[in-house]
Amino acid sequence: MKAPSHSFLSWAAALCAITAVGLFGHTVHDRSGRSDAKATGDERIGLYASTLDQVVERFRALPFVLANDERIYRMLEAPADPARIDDVNRSLAALAEAAAADALYVMNADGLTLAASNYGQPKSFVGENYNFRPYFRDAVEHGHGQFFAIGVTTGDPGYFMSRPVRRDGKLLGVAVVKISLEALETDWRSTGENIALADNRGVLFLASPASWKYRPIRPLSDTERTDIRHSMQYSGISLEGWPLLRSRQAPGNGDVVDIVKDDSGPHRFLVTRTDLPAYGWTIYSFTDLAPISRAAVLGGAAWSLAAAVLLLLLLWWRGRRAILRAKLDAHDMLEQRVSERTRELIVANESLSREIEERRRAEDALKRAQDDLVQAGKLAALGQMSAALVHEINQPLAALKTTLASAKLLIRNGSAERAAATVATIDDLVARMSELTQHLRTFARKDFGEMGPVDITIVVQRALALANARLGAEDVRTVIDMPAGGVTVTGNATRLEQVLLNLLSNAADAVAHQRARTIAVSVLHQDGEVQVSVADSGPGIAADHMASVFDPFFTTKDVGKGLGLGLSISYAIIEDHGGRLRVHNKAGGGAEFSFSLPTALAIAPAALAAGA
Ligand code: ADP
Repeated sequence: MKAPSHSFLSWAAALCAITAVGLFGHTVHDRSGRSDAKATGDERIGLYASTLDQVVERFRALPFVLANDERIYRMLEAPADPARIDDVNRSLAALAEAAAADALYVMNADGLTLAASNYGQPKSFVGENYNFRPYFRDAVEHGHGQFFAIGVTTGDPGYFMSRPVRRDGKLLGVAVVKISLEALETDWRSTGENIALADNRGVLFLASPASWKYRPIRPLSDTERTDIRHSMQYSGISLEGWPLLRSRQAPGNGDVVDIVKDDSGPHRFLVTRTDLPAYGWTIYSFTDLAPISRAAVLGGAAWSLAAAVLLLLLLWWRGRRAILRAKLDAHDMLEQRVSERTRELIVANESLSREIEERRRAEDALKRAQDDLVQAGKLAALGQMSAALVHEINQPLAALKTTLASAKLLIRNGSAERAAATVATIDDLVARMSELTQHLRTFARKDFGEMGPVDITIVVQRALALANARLGAEDVRTVIDMPAGGVTVTGNATRLEQVLLNLLSNAADAVAHQRARTIAVSVLHQDGEVQVSVADSGPGIAADHMASVFDPFFTTKDVGKGLGLGLSISYAIIEDHGGRLRVHNKAGGGAEFSFSLPTALAIAPAALAAGA
């Protein structure tokens, strides 16, 4: 089973809360409505009770007045005298009219009515015996009587008050006043309220709702029924009908009862009651609770509505707060990210600064190392050069020394011819030494001589011609490939010739110990450039030496055979001509040195200026 969602529970709780508030509101309204109704009922009932008192009290003295009337004495003492009866009849009628009493009448000691205010009327009391009425007996036995009953003669309900008529302690009769209380009932009806007056047995003898009249408020016992029948209190009225309430007890003050008022079914009433001990009666007010219930329902609904509005407000406020919190959180997160990023940047910046510092130190160290190296290189070069020079110069010097010694000896011996030959050898040795110094001068000199248009093919031919004697002697085959019309470059012919001669000389050295000895020289003119290369069929350049061949004083040749200056000087010369001297080992074996130069027409003015 799926668990109910959080929002469903919230809604259920909200509904419960709204309902609870509604129910509470209903209860509050209902209670206050009832207590108001109770207060109003008490007030009204008090008013009605005092009105009843006023009505009754107006007549209370009348029987007493009659009981002390001389004419009535005389009539009762001589009941056979029609004149006396007539006299009393007239005075009673006049008094009843004046006092607005229903009826005034006088009975003899047996209860027979001798005179009455309604004498001569169709339903006159005269001649009727009412000794069965409690008010007769009470008057005789207790000195006064009072009783509400329906008139047995007239059929009109009324309140009877009685007094005994005595002379010298002897009972002569009973004087009675009957008053109507119908006016009270009419008053109650006009207010629209449910007021009822119950006798000592609970029979409602006055009631503003007509249908309640003469109904017992509770079921009557058999004895009570018999008593009522005997006194003929409600003659002509059946008391067998439904009691107003089913409960055995009459309702108490503040009770809520259900009464079927009319065709509309049972109604709920709030009961307020006041006992009137002077009469033995109880006055009831029944307040219909339907309007109060309706008001309570409306009140409950209003409370529910208010609760719903409050809840909605609360929800709205909470939602707003959640949005605000989310915004704040997002802002905080952003700030945190920014500060984190800033921290990272600071750290990165610091490490960058450190790196820069380290780099700077490394650079310094490198520079120092470079300087040291240069210094060391210089010293090494100087050492190498010294060794080479010492050897190159010592050898001819030693040779010169021995040659001179033998020349001296030959001169002393007079062998002039042989001495002349020896002098020629000396000349050779000196020439060799001057060649060496010439080389060094070329290397040291910064001024490389004049630049001008030079036909590179002629330069190649002249170099070949110089080398030719050696090449021919060592049986080296030369392969020459050059454009027929010549190619002009800007440069210094002597120095380019020096380069070519050096390359040819190295090539001749390389092939010296090979069986097949070939040197190929080519001049290639292409795209405003001329490429000159000298290739040989020698062993090529060892991989270890490839990087060093252009270094000054690098040589693999025996001492006395090479100075290691040729290629470095050639490199410098080609660079001065705006070109670059390169070397690579050919696929088929042997080394190939080459350089390219811009042709004279395409040469850049800057290069020309630099060459000048
Ligand atoms: P040197 O000829 O006095 O030794 P160079 O500077 O002319 O000085 O040459 C340097 C070195 O380059 C040579 O000693 C040699 O080892 C190498 N070398 C130059 N030309 C060739 C070549 N054609 N074949 C093989 N090795 C060569």
